[in-house]
Amino acid sequence: MERYLMYLRKSRMDTDFEEVSIAETLSRHRTTLEKFCKSKRLNVVEVLEEVVSGESLAARPQMMRLLELVSTGSYAGVVCMDIERLSRGSSMESGYIMQILQVNGCKIVTPGKTYDLQNESDEQFTDMKFMFSRYELKTITKRLVRGRNQSASEGKFMGSMAPYGYRAYKLPGEKGNSLMIIPEEAKVVQMIFDMYGQQGMGYNAIAYKMNDMHIPARKGQWSQTSVANILTNEVYLGKIRWRREPVKRVVKEGMLSKKRILNDDYELYEGRHEAIITEEQWDRVQEILNRHKHTSNHTERQLKNPFAGVLYCEKCGGIMKRYVPRPKESPTAWFRCMTRNCDCKMIKCEVAEKNILNAMEEWLEEYQIQLEQTQTQTVDPIDTALETVHSQLTGLQLQQEKICEYLEKGIYSVEMFTKRNAALSKEIEQLRDSETDLLRQKSEGNKQNRAAAELIPTTQHILDSYDALTVEEKNSLWKLVMRRATIYREPEGEVHIHIYPNLPR
Ligand SMILES: [Zn+2]
Repeated sequence: MERYLMYLRKSRMDTDFEEVSIAETLSRHRTTLEKFCKSKRLNVVEVLEEVVSGESLAARPQMMRLLELVSTGSYAGVVCMDIERLSRGSSMESGYIMQILQVNGCKIVTPGKTYDLQNESDEQFTDMKFMFSRYELKTITKRLVRGRNQSASEGKFMGSMAPYGYRAYKLPGEKGNSLMIIPEEAKVVQMIFDMYGQQGMGYNAIAYKMNDMHIPARKGQWSQTSVANILTNEVYLGKIRWRREPVKRVVKEGMLSKKRILNDDYELYEGRHEAIITEEQWDRVQEILNRHKHTSNHTERQLKNPFAGVLYCEKCGGIMKRYVPRPKESPTAWFRCMTRNCDCKMIKCEVAEKNILNAMEEWLEEYQIQLEQTQTQTVDPIDTALETVHSQLTGLQLQQEKICEYLEKGIYSVEMFTKRNAALSKEIEQLRDSETDLLRQKSEGNKQNRAAAELIPTTQHILDSYDALTVEEKNSLWKLVMRRATIYREPEGEVHIHIYPNLPR
């Protein structure tokens, strides 16, 4: 069943009846709209009532909420008294609101008319174009969605950066770009497809070989990802890939932001550019890729490196990768600096792991001692202030008890008591406020100490139960307690290790 939202807001037209309060106006509108929805069988799942009367979008919390809800794409329409309820404000903002409704296929339903923003030929839509910013509606939505789709189907290249092997150029005499082959790079693409498809090399091995042969990559070094991107890009077959829904527009806190959605569902168009590889080369590679996908989903996907994303080369700052040179003969794993020309020697994973564990243990011991010392030394000024507040509070409470006694004994008249009691209560209230404030300051100040204090048990936990943890558990715990660790093995064999515990900065 289609879901609708109801939006209620007092508008300029209602101000004629000044004696009627906003709440009354809104409840009258609500009754009207509820009757209307009932007669039209509209399923209203949420009613948003704007009680403030701000002009700007930011001053209309319910409108912001409405936009957030609408951009989930799960509502068929917004029910309101008239279009003006939605649109009042600057034309930029109303254009923006309309854009979100349109993109998400959300109608505007009023007792007078229903506006379907999807249907541009709709007469009513034409009316609206006068009411809302033309610029916003037309240029952004239409040009982006339809125009880009159009160019794709014409085989034009629409990315911002040409894929490796090609250079983008402007098509002469028409709009849009296409791709031109860069011969040296095209040779490399063919080589990569052969290495994978014919020689049975993996992503890593190919990347390593590329770097080894000093073949320049587009950015930095060849990596597993850059190789994988080439092997899976249909552009090398002479095609253009077009993702039907490449970007989803989302509204967060009233601001439009774009969210790229990874989407396997894309369309292919015959490109205007030349292919670099043949159908056979492509098919062979895809077949192997598919085979790998099926097996690796179950077994090989599991994390094997407990220091993934944590361990770096101390010399060059590059990432240290786990590497098994001869998986068939021996399972020995090594950490290897991935930077070309870095003289950091490979280090056995086992050795590195043991060393890091030791370093962490040493650090923990030292840190605990250090923390104990600072904790006993310092006198916190906030604590002192709190003590003062507390003793003052106790004093005032005693006075309050006293005046009760005076009243009972007839020393105070009721008037005197009431007056004195009011004064005392006020003082107590003020002290309570400062108490709250001090406590808040204390908790802010303690946050840092607390983060440090939390680090201790977590680290202890890793050290105590290390052997019982899975690699994934190890990795997520290391990431908690360490910002990074660096390692370097000199050509002569000496190993250096540094750990950077995750202390608050
Ligand atoms: Zn290095």
